[in-house]
Amino acid sequence: MFDNKETTGINHLGEFGLIDHLTKNIELKQPGTLKGIGDDAAVLDFTGKKTLISTDMLLEGIHFDLAYTPFKHLGYKAIQVNLSDVYAMNATPSQVTVSIGVSSKFPLEAIEELYQGIYVACEKYNVDLVGGDTSASKQGLIISVTVLGYADEADIVYRNTAQEGDLICVSGDLGGAYTGLQLLEREKLVYLENPNIQPDLEGKDYIVERQLKPEARKDIVELLKAWSVTPTAMIDVSDGLASEVLHICTQSNKGCNLYEEKIPIDPMTYETAREFNLDPTICALSGGEDYELLFTIKQADYDKLKNHPDISIIGHITEASAGRNLITKAGAVHELKAQGWNAFKNSQG
Ligand code: ADP
Ligand code: MG
Repeated sequence: MFDNKETTGINHLGEFGLIDHLTKNIELKQPGTLKGIGDDAAVLDFTGKKTLISTDMLLEGIHFDLAYTPFKHLGYKAIQVNLSDVYAMNATPSQVTVSIGVSSKFPLEAIEELYQGIYVACEKYNVDLVGGDTSASKQGLIISVTVLGYADEADIVYRNTAQEGDLICVSGDLGGAYTGLQLLEREKLVYLENPNIQPDLEGKDYIVERQLKPEARKDIVELLKAWSVTPTAMIDVSDGLASEVLHICTQSNKGCNLYEEKIPIDPMTYETAREFNLDPTICALSGGEDYELLFTIKQADYDKLKNHPDISIIGHITEASAGRNLITKAGAVHELKAQGWNAFKNSQG
């Protein structure tokens, strides 16, 4: 990505020089950040609140491919996936730490862009970067982000508290990040075969953005609060809808009925899945990385959410003995499985 530009090696800066270079302009915003970067530890104040903490690690070649992932987007996404976990607890993220392992193959400019993405995300979501660690890496790029957040104890929403009769809701639409990834992978192969051919992502902005630049659903948490709806259980959709619904059912010791026709799928996701000979529903169920919020609500809250364009009611919670069911558009009942690709496809005919 930086092949044609003049670049600066990171070796001559050294670890301290690099950290200083990347973090010297930080402005702390959170009143709870008493000390950020620069001492042996950050000092935070969560007066009167419960503290939430979550970590996600991203490895080059496993979680991202630099062939089509701009560094800035990567930094942005590394923050978003962490914020999403705090919102999924119905809490407010307030600080992050960022640890990186960098090989000398990366120029300083690449790491600067990574941090630009990190700062854009932090700014937008009002979180402070308060620390991290920096190490050399023998091969790929490693990014580990830890996020801290806060909430009143009574507001925290867990995965294991869904009740029989609760409605299952999901924000936004699903399967987009996965079909976006299919598209990027295809264009990468085309490029590797013939570097003169430019990637053809024309008209596919939405799903490419869903993959490269996800947004944590702060707005949904705020909306639920504004409408006095406290979800009975909640999780973010990082591994695909099926997997997340099953997490809530298993941890709550409940069953579910999920309706295929209710699963929100954007038209571009639908079309692109078809182009790739994929079932759009399966992209939503098993694709992952959508970073939407999946939550259950009491039936009494139905009227408050039923007409919201960004929230879909896709099923309900049952007693455990009723099983975890996916009811297809044709009315057939299947067991909901986290990787139900083949079983589901075959039985659909
Ligand atoms: P120590 O030797 O005590 O671990 P470091 O030299 O690693 O300290 O870090 C110095 C300061 O810079 C600390 O406040 C640390 O949190 C911060 N820091 C180190 N690496 C990063 C990074 N990649 N991003 C943000 N802050 C960092
Ligand atoms: Mg250190």
